[in-house]
Amino acid sequence: MKYILIIGDGMADNPVAELGGATPLQYADIPQLDALASAGIVGSVKTCPDGLPPGSDTAIMSIFGCDPRRYYTGRAPLEAAATGIALCPGDVAYRCNMVTYEDSGLPFAERHILSHSAGSIDGGTSAALARALFDDPAFKAKADGAGMTVYPALSFRHIAVQSGADIKGISLVPPHDHLGEAIGPLLPSGCENAGVLRGLMETAFEVLDSHGLNIRRREEGKLPANGVWFWAEGTAVQLPNFTKAYGRTGGVISAVPLCHGIAALIGLERVSVEGATGELDTNYEGKADAALRLLREHDFAAIHVEAPDECTHNGDLEGKLEAIRRLDSRTLAPLMRGLADSGWDYRILVLSDHKTLTSTRGHDGTPVPFVIYDSRADRRAGTSYCEAAGERGVRVDDGTHLMDMLFETP
Ligand SMILES: [Zn+2]
Repeated sequence: MKYILIIGDGMADNPVAELGGATPLQYADIPQLDALASAGIVGSVKTCPDGLPPGSDTAIMSIFGCDPRRYYTGRAPLEAAATGIALCPGDVAYRCNMVTYEDSGLPFAERHILSHSAGSIDGGTSAALARALFDDPAFKAKADGAGMTVYPALSFRHIAVQSGADIKGISLVPPHDHLGEAIGPLLPSGCENAGVLRGLMETAFEVLDSHGLNIRRREEGKLPANGVWFWAEGTAVQLPNFTKAYGRTGGVISAVPLCHGIAALIGLERVSVEGATGELDTNYEGKADAALRLLREHDFAAIHVEAPDECTHNGDLEGKLEAIRRLDSRTLAPLMRGLADSGWDYRILVLSDHKTLTSTRGHDGTPVPFVIYDSRADRRAGTSYCEAAGERGVRVDDGTHLMDMLFETP
């Protein structure tokens, strides 16, 4: 018996006026998903517990059976795990974004933040700037004093770790939610250590703003990476082992650090696919191939596709529809063919981790539709895969039960 989980990140939505009141899942042509729904079980599941921020971090933890109310400490520790950064008790991990503040003569705190990604800065330049910053004598003295180390990434998403830090009461905000705003009210606040982070951010600006690489970026018409932004804080996290909990081995195929971090923490393989980008242009077929390869040696494979979520955040409705169509025709279709050729019995669970709303371009924590299909039985449900069908079907109030449903745990 083989088990497959497919997560279309942020596919689910509310009715969209531009689509005549249909949701993207209802509007897009998705024959594979509809065939699974027609023969399987369709329902709706609450993956984001009330009281926690709705997002892929909390939702995907739930889906893998880890109750975020018990285990969630923040997003950065999950991303840190993806790259093998081991956090010790007392360590705090932060996301350390390369960002862009406006070029003006205003004092630091009055400047506006223009980009949360320094204009989607290329990985090489981003890593070089992070290294240059933490090697700068003035910044290094402050970072050492704060017990902070940086782990440069090949994107705007660096991870910083601070040892022995007290973050009780701290308020750090996601920079992508505040583009165009003056940073004064957004800077770290709420406790003594927030002042330390604020000081580091101000010194980082002084060092980076006139750095040679940024002077060149301005000359090339690019946004300078003239700041770092700390957020997504969290302490060391331990998650229950997936194989111990469910008696299955396998891996997680994804392009984003968050999913690989969760995989590492629950003891599943992290599988990367060449050309998998986390965007609309990702390698859809490659993910199906990787899953079929995993299943030859294991009993469980998870595929995560980030594109529908990214398109929604970018306000790209046509992109969202296309991402959903491609997931159906270019990942699910070859996967189903491969499974049929293999002769295995299998069960497959498909869902959106959380809703990402076209209306707000943000996440939403209300229930999402799921489908479970079993190759051994046609349940003749005769329905399609969408939010409305989910609401008419089985109601699962706690997303941590999904794996038991997939594995038919008694
Ligand atoms: Zn998202």
